[in-house]
Amino acid sequence: MSNTCIPFSLNASLERFTKAVSMIPGGVNSPVRAFKSVGGTPVFLKRAKGSRFWDIDGNEYIDFCQSWGPLVLGHADERVVAAVREAACNGLSFGACHEGEIQMAELILSAMRDFNCVRLVNSGTEAVMTALRLARGATSRDLIVKFEGGYHGHSDSMLVKAGSGLVTFGEADSSGIPSKIANQTIVTAFDDEDRVADIFKQYGSRIAAVIIEPLPANNGLLVQRRDFLQYLREITQVNGSLLIFDEVISGFRFNFGGYYQMIDVIPDLVTLGKVIGGGMPVGAIAGSREIMKNLAPEGSVYQAGTLSGNPVSLAAGIETLKILSDGSIHKKLENLGRKFASLLEGANITSLRFERVGSIFWLHLDEGELPKKPAEISRAAMERYKTLYWPLLEKGFYLPPSPYEVMFLSASHNEEELTKFADALINKMQN
Ligand SMILES: *Cc1c(COP(=O)(O)O)cnc(C)c1O
Repeated sequence: MSNTCIPFSLNASLERFTKAVSMIPGGVNSPVRAFKSVGGTPVFLKRAKGSRFWDIDGNEYIDFCQSWGPLVLGHADERVVAAVREAACNGLSFGACHEGEIQMAELILSAMRDFNCVRLVNSGTEAVMTALRLARGATSRDLIVKFEGGYHGHSDSMLVKAGSGLVTFGEADSSGIPSKIANQTIVTAFDDEDRVADIFKQYGSRIAAVIIEPLPANNGLLVQRRDFLQYLREITQVNGSLLIFDEVISGFRFNFGGYYQMIDVIPDLVTLGKVIGGGMPVGAIAGSREIMKNLAPEGSVYQAGTLSGNPVSLAAGIETLKILSDGSIHKKLENLGRKFASLLEGANITSLRFERVGSIFWLHLDEGELPKKPAEISRAAMERYKTLYWPLLEKGFYLPPSPYEVMFLSASHNEEELTKFADALINKMQN
């Protein structure tokens, strides 16, 4: 923890951020890193290990963001780093076939036995983009249904929001997206079978796929009813549309496999990212051979990548998945999650509410029901989060710099750290 004799200072970070802003739009290479939702300027990191990282001013933090989800083992796990070192010495990129691709495919397919084919890409965004094109190619249909508040990366057809009216074609949620593309996506609400039924009644024969995060974790943690997800399974099947579960966050986070197995709803395609790269850029699409064979070069749906299946990235992912494969890490994460939950619950503060699944936490700092839709996230909860953010950072607790984002525990967090953080949070909530 930052030594109490040395005052918390972010002077070096501030200076470097000013420099970064002069060359990089907003000073960052991914928008949420700019700290806009909590005010102030971001910290510049120098080094990370396990549950902790250190900024360039010398401040030490317990990191509850963990690179937004990939680092299920914590920062710079020795086994993963060793695997990366070894792979790097044997070539940074082949652009040709190698054994690592087979190992990765076997690991994913052995964990998800409902599928028998997988394609590797470099990010979650790419995985989703490919899954959507594949769904459209395989069904010869154009329309995609997504849910308000689901995040699926930054491809054109996913950066859409609901227009006005009940059943609506999407409107671009970013400049630079042609309306002709945005309105090939229908945007509807989580937790609402009736609206989905209306959409299929009107457009069923034109819908290529429904895409959803089965555990929405990008606008809070909006746990859905299993019935709702099962309903999506059935209505897509009846209408000849595909169901895509975007498991870029949830895949391999709670078990050696997908969240879909925990709820026993089996989609047609699963998109993966984050954990399967163990901190390096890897994404994947898994499905049945029957659907996947539509991808080039076997089929006519084009997809490619200079660095796809990169041997160094895959080394990190393979080592991470091997470590996860016996289930002991997930058991540990569940225990840590339960411990942290019990600490917060023990405080008995009505507005200190949170949602938890395994090692994912989301603070919704307000009384009452936990939200199932983004519209139900209260202003008061967001304001409280912003108010708490900087005092907690100063005490050495790094939270995701936005009240919409979830916290991640890693296997390198320990109970003592959770207790310290819970005490600090409870203390701030009482003041
Ligand atoms: C992070 C995320 C993505 C995008 O992945 P990137 O690797 O950032 O492109 C897509 N879908 C979900 C559910 C995600 O959480």
